[in-house]
Amino acid sequence: MDIGDVEKLVAMNKAFKLLRERQKENLKRYPEIKSIAKKIRGVRERSTGNKELLSESIENFERRGFDVYLAKNKEDALKAITELLEGERVVAKSKSNVAKEISLREELESRGVEVVETDIGDRIIQILNEDPSHPTGPAAHLSVRMIAEKLSNHFKTEIVPSAENIVELLREDIKKRVENAAVGITGANAITREGAVVVVHNEGNIYEVMHRPKRWIILTGIDKVYPSLEDAVAAAKVQSFFATGEMLPSFTEIISGNAKTADIEKKLIKSGSPEEISLILLDNGRSEISASEFKEILYCLGCGNCVVNCPAHSVYGNRFPGGRFALIDAIKGDENILRFCLSCKKCKKNCPLEIDIPRMISNLREGSELYNFLISHIMWLNERLKVELLKVAFRFQ
Ligand code: SF4
Ligand code: SF4
Repeated sequence: MDIGDVEKLVAMNKAFKLLRERQKENLKRYPEIKSIAKKIRGVRERSTGNKELLSESIENFERRGFDVYLAKNKEDALKAITELLEGERVVAKSKSNVAKEISLREELESRGVEVVETDIGDRIIQILNEDPSHPTGPAAHLSVRMIAEKLSNHFKTEIVPSAENIVELLREDIKKRVENAAVGITGANAITREGAVVVVHNEGNIYEVMHRPKRWIILTGIDKVYPSLEDAVAAAKVQSFFATGEMLPSFTEIISGNAKTADIEKKLIKSGSPEEISLILLDNGRSEISASEFKEILYCLGCGNCVVNCPAHSVYGNRFPGGRFALIDAIKGDENILRFCLSCKKCKKNCPLEIDIPRMISNLREGSELYNFLISHIMWLNERLKVELLKVAFRFQ
């Protein structure tokens, strides 16, 4: 561990503390969020792994003019996306956990496609070549000083370390780069039985990614299907509150078809962007998981609150991604990572859907509960002590 690692941990824990405080304050204004979350838990239990619901949803999407692709795995999804690009070299992209799951940016870049991340946090991570520390706040572990210093090297000009200044600079740069993009790629917070996609965002960038290019590709998981638009919007509210502390995101997009008009003689013609919408639904092990003891993990809304409240992540940083993200890594085969887990159950307690991550972690770990508890706590105390000493040595607050 060096000075940079300590500075990242300090920045991340500061950002997470701020988020927890905002949630606490806003919970007084919106106490109903807990009962909405409870209802969504029931919805997710009924819809996850529900094949009839998924088939009905696909049928309705196709009827509404979407091209729908069912991708069994990463390779299938990448093949579909590469074909849909039809030789285009610039893609505007927004934040998506599923895109991250298949390393979409890196895969397209290796095929010579320029991928422009349009979310400020993701763009910072892309330029600085860093790993994200939170699903909706990927650059939370970087201080404004670190970001300004590295961006100064990238843009070859002195950048003042102020958040406002950095955001303005990146926004301008992104705008210029996506001007000629003919394809936009986003994720989706939800898809519904009626054939609608729900996407929430705060920066306004998703609007640009959806509407500027002619082709819009939506990449999401088969587990994101909801029985109704009302349920999907309620889930988006819960996700927003636990990801940002705000009950409503700035923008909630509901899309159920491409841009068209019937204003002349009632003849339906395509008009404006997007002209084409392609929906790629990724399985990649989800069908298997939904029939296993780990089904509950697919109820996840991706809010990241399990990470924000994970004491192991707060000390180990990206060596232990925390909560749901550590569990997913372990299910994929990296079981060694679970030795860091303290079995403290804070992830379950702070999850809006009370997903029992500790139970699933415990099922995956070898050895007795007591042994794992003792070893993980000794390791954690040792690491914590190291971090605190380095904080004093480097005078971090
Ligand atoms: S039980 Fe493990 S994953 Fe969950 S909050 Fe505690 S340390 Fe993190
Ligand atoms: S497991 Fe729960 S807290 Fe963690 S990201 Fe998913 S919904 Fe949010």
